[in-house]
Amino acid sequence: MTLVVLLGAPGAGKGTQAAVLQDRLGIPHIATGDLFRAAIREATPVGLEARSYMDAGQLVPDGVTIRMLEERLGRPDAAAGAILDGFPRTAVQAASLDSFLAGRGSRIDAALLIDVPPDALVERLSGRWICQFAGHVYHVDMNRSRVAGICDLDGSPLVQRADDQPETIRARLVSQLDDLQAVVDHYRATGALRTINGLRPIRDVSAGLLEALGVEPVRTA
Ligand code: ADP
Ligand code: AMP
Repeated sequence: MTLVVLLGAPGAGKGTQAAVLQDRLGIPHIATGDLFRAAIREATPVGLEARSYMDAGQLVPDGVTIRMLEERLGRPDAAAGAILDGFPRTAVQAASLDSFLAGRGSRIDAALLIDVPPDALVERLSGRWICQFAGHVYHVDMNRSRVAGICDLDGSPLVQRADDQPETIRARLVSQLDDLQAVVDHYRATGALRTINGLRPIRDVSAGLLEALGVEPVRTA
């Protein structure tokens, strides 16, 4: 089982890099933000509870978030492991993940921090567009689709996330960075933390993450 936690502020590049790691490692990319957005689309009780927090740029309460993540990790496609993106986001979530995994005789292999200073995050988030079908991630300047407004991978239209509006971006950065620091401290204490400079181009960040995992960047036959 391989369990990798991707850490970083909103906009650091976790989703972008999780897609690369998913292809390279052959384990699913599990993003709690994506799970919440799907729950909102399907109007499930979790979605109804999460929506007001997400709209306000606040974290969804730990209880519902932890239950949702544990349920997802219990599905068959995650039996060989997963890349966790956006979880854990609080010290309580980090401790609960440790106990959940310990109960299954497992633990985190690495917690990879994609380090990007706050002043670069606003530009990344305000220029982010994602595809409607699968959430593939683009940026208006730094990571453009081949045809404007259309996903390269599945042809679906690109849309902006509701929480990528300037006011909510500011609220997210103000309210979530202290919690991120607590999670970083948690993994520093366990010895699992590796820090990668996230200001470099996407390919270089991918190479840094794979190197931290001890994996060759390109799969050889
Ligand atoms: P997160 O999942 O951490 O919130 P994303 O992966 O969605 O972050 O990336 C946020 C935005 O920044 C997206 O528009 C993405 O295309 C862009 N981006 C990601 N990594 C880089 C990078 N290394 N350099 C420039 N832009 C990037
Ligand atoms: P993301 O897609 O990772 O940027 O997450 C979008 C929003 O979903 C966040 O701003 C939070 O409101 C919520 N969210 C995602 N993951 C978590 C988590 N682990 N704990 C609490 N809230 C979360």
